[in-house]
Amino acid sequence: MHRLDFSHERDLSIDDLVRRVESYYPEANFPLLRKAYEFAEKAHKGQKRRSGEDFIIHPLNVALTVGKLRMDLDSIIAGMLHDVIEDCDIAPEVIEQEFSSNIAQIVVGLTKISKIKFKTREESQAENFRKMIVAMAKDLRVIIVKLADRMHNMRTLQYISDGRQKSIAQETLDIYIPLASRLGINSVKGELEDLCLRFLKPDIYYQLAEKVAMKKSERDVYIREVVDLIQEKLQEYSLTAEVKGRPKHFYSIYKKMTARDVDFEQIQDILAFRLIVSNITECYKALGIIHSSFTPIPGRFKDYIAIPKVNNYQSLHTTVVGPKAERIEIQVRTTEMDQVAETGVAAHWRYKEGAASIPSKLGWVQELLEFNYDLKNNSEFMDIVKNDLDVGGIFIFTPNGDVRELRHGSTPLDFAYAVHTEIGNSCVGAKINGKMVPIRSRLKSGDTVEILTSKNQTPSKDWLNIVKTSRARSKIRQWLQKAEREINRDAGISILDKGLRVFSSSIKALKKKNMWNGVLEQFHCKSEDELYVNLGSGKLSIKDIISKTFPPEGDEQESEKKMEVIESYSEKLSQKARQKSSKKNAIIVDGMDDLMVRMARCCNPIPGDQVIGYITRGRGITVHTHQCNRINAREVSREIDVSWNEEFSFTHPVNIRVVTHDKPGVLSLISRRINEININIRSATAKSMPDRKGSFLFEIEVKDYSELLKVINSIEALEEVISVTRI
Ligand code: MN
Repeated sequence: MHRLDFSHERDLSIDDLVRRVESYYPEANFPLLRKAYEFAEKAHKGQKRRSGEDFIIHPLNVALTVGKLRMDLDSIIAGMLHDVIEDCDIAPEVIEQEFSSNIAQIVVGLTKISKIKFKTREESQAENFRKMIVAMAKDLRVIIVKLADRMHNMRTLQYISDGRQKSIAQETLDIYIPLASRLGINSVKGELEDLCLRFLKPDIYYQLAEKVAMKKSERDVYIREVVDLIQEKLQEYSLTAEVKGRPKHFYSIYKKMTARDVDFEQIQDILAFRLIVSNITECYKALGIIHSSFTPIPGRFKDYIAIPKVNNYQSLHTTVVGPKAERIEIQVRTTEMDQVAETGVAAHWRYKEGAASIPSKLGWVQELLEFNYDLKNNSEFMDIVKNDLDVGGIFIFTPNGDVRELRHGSTPLDFAYAVHTEIGNSCVGAKINGKMVPIRSRLKSGDTVEILTSKNQTPSKDWLNIVKTSRARSKIRQWLQKAEREINRDAGISILDKGLRVFSSSIKALKKKNMWNGVLEQFHCKSEDELYVNLGSGKLSIKDIISKTFPPEGDEQESEKKMEVIESYSEKLSQKARQKSSKKNAIIVDGMDDLMVRMARCCNPIPGDQVIGYITRGRGITVHTHQCNRINAREVSREIDVSWNEEFSFTHPVNIRVVTHDKPGVLSLISRRINEININIRSATAKSMPDRKGSFLFEIEVKDYSELLKVINSIEALEEVISVTRI
């Protein structure tokens, strides 16, 4: 099928459209299609486009685009009628009577989307996105027709004002392209991206266009040469394939240039070749032939056949050194995979009618929908949408060989949450391909990741800055909210308890006197817990509760005094509660909040060490010990005072080296000693040394320096031990 042409066809007629649809779908109901044309033509009579053309050329082109995606007739007709409700005041019932309820439903969905006013403010955008997903969830064909509509509008964008051009292009980039990508409609995605580049960054676009065009004839010769060469090699092994080559989309060249920060001249692999074969075995066979005929570039081979992308894309990708030492990208796939690659979910409706429901492979749409009802916060929803629409993930293996797909940039913490919420919540570290790494390391496709957990571990706010996947983020938020609620609840109970005691009463007494429900009602609390939580969080004041429950009587001065006692107690407690819940870093940096802080790897400080912060470029603050050699070599102007957060309780990994007399069983002796004082050992390695000595490296988890000292002292006390050093 290869790159569909979505150009605006200004002379397109209904006869052309019928002929084109006939070519792939001869049994379609053409009288109905012609009827739709006549209906739209009549409805839009007299309306003009900005280009001066009759309006009908727009729905005709949209219907054609839907046809190019090989969609069913309902969708093509909906494309033809997509603007009649909005622009011509045709009632949905009329469409239902004249055509069908399915077609009417798609047109209604399209009208709804067109009424959404996209705003730049993220919050309203989220709301719109949500509406759009709701609109398309009823019938996914809505979004496919909408993409066709957008494609044609982008294709004819030059006729409208500059300002509108930019805002429509931006909206396309923000909303429609991620959707097209997620739905796997790559032909539409690639075209829209190039069009966005043209209107959003015209300088770059035309520069690229010029450069790509400049060497066109030279390049065409080269492409032919490579195609012939590949064909020749394949024939040697009696393999037939369709082979095509083309320059990549401008946008993908542009992305490469910005990602690698290089000029056009330095981008080598701007040519892509595609081999279409008839079955999977031939795909791998063809790949083998390619790799034995050209030198493959290491690390560039991807097998999306064995592990398809989340949008069901399948293909083999590789980059090789072609003739004249040019790097060329080669994709190998079957005809069927090629259709899916170009038209994504649209392939689901190919040549068939009445498949309106969401295909089971698109469960994510359903998930997204269910998800959005739980979320109060729009920007949170936006996060999730943006994340989940971001295709192009990495594949990570569990130690058992199961595969999970995560988005680029994911960390072991994301992986832990992908495996199970509990594993995420108790994650203390991870091993990537058998090597210990911090939880914020970046994962690469193909990594095998083992998550280390600890019963004492709990999520912290800091983790929100580490994770990249929406699943992990929302699970961490959930946990933090629950934890904060519990802290507030406990604080609320003791505030109320104390307050009532001062007035010689108690919660129990209130309940006995049947006053309790009255209190809840008066303060609009649906449950006992809600009252405590509000009290602990400071939403309700204990003073209000007491004064309403025990109206002042007798000695005014005395009750005033009592009130003061209660208030100061409550203030202290709820403040403490708030402090507790806002503890997020092991380190406090003077006067600054929300800073990214990490422990230097060279000296690996733990609480109790004297520490100094060092401001790094773009990576927040690194904390070193005063003794660290590295810190001396640094610029003094970048140093900053930091201290340990005493509220923070968290175990830190520390390495210690133990040198012993070489005696049997000494490793287990030391391990037992460490375990006896309840210290967790993460790893232990042994090395034999000359002079009949043994050397062991332990990675242990301690809360602070004093705990480390305890460990060192108790190991040193062993007769077999010569020395213990922290490293
Ligand atoms: Mn339209």
